[in-house]
Amino acid sequence: MNMVKPELLRGDITSLEVDAIVNAANSSLLGGGGVDGAIHRAAGPELLAECVKAAGERRHIPGGPCPAGDAVITGGYRLKAKYVIHTVGPVWYGVGRGEPELLASCYRKSLLLAEKNKLRSIAFPNISTGVYGYPKDRAAALAVETVKKTLEETPGLERLVFVCFDDENFRLYRELLGL
Ligand code: ADP
Repeated sequence: MNMVKPELLRGDITSLEVDAIVNAANSSLLGGGGVDGAIHRAAGPELLAECVKAAGERRHIPGGPCPAGDAVITGGYRLKAKYVIHTVGPVWYGVGRGEPELLASCYRKSLLLAEKNKLRSIAFPNISTGVYGYPKDRAAALAVETVKKTLEETPGLERLVFVCFDDENFRLYRELLGL
C-alpha cells in the first residue's frame, strides 16, 4: 500500500525538480506544441535526438512509434528532472473511441514505467486537455481516480505532483483532491 498523497501545483512543469516529468507527446515522439514544445525547448536538442532514436526503434509498432495510451522514457538532459516519460493521450472525438481507457492507460503506464526505473518522484501535466480536446472535468476526474488506484502498485513512489497550467484545471484538481 502506498500512502502518497498527490500534490497540486500551478505553473510550468519544465521547472520541476523531480525524478521524472511526464510529457503529453504525440505518437511520432518528434515533438509538438503545448507542453511538448515547452519540454523540448527546456531540455535542449539532446532530448529530440533520443526521441528520434526511440522512434526509429519503435517504427513497426501499429499506431506508433508511440500509440495513444503508451509511454516511453528518455533522459531529461537540460531539465532539472532526470527523466522524461513521454505518453500519448487520446484525441477526444466524443463518440466512443475508447478515449477514457486510453487516457487512464497514459497515467497508469507512466507510473508503472517510473516504478520499473526505481524513480521516487513524478509530475504529470493535464494530458489531452489542450489541443487534443478532452473535456477538462472528465480528464481530471479520470486522472485522479487512475493515479490513486495505480499507486497501490508503485510502492517506490514517494511523491506525485499534478501540474496545472491553466486556472480551470487547477480549480478542478483542487476540488477533486480536497485541497
Ligand atoms: P494535448 O495534445 O495532450 O492536449 P497540450 O500540450 O496541448 O497536449 O495540452 C496539455 C495540457 O498541458 C494543457 O492543459 C495545457 O494547458 C498544459 N500545458 C501547456 N504548457 C504547459 C507547461 N509548460 N507546463 C505544464 N502544463 C502545460
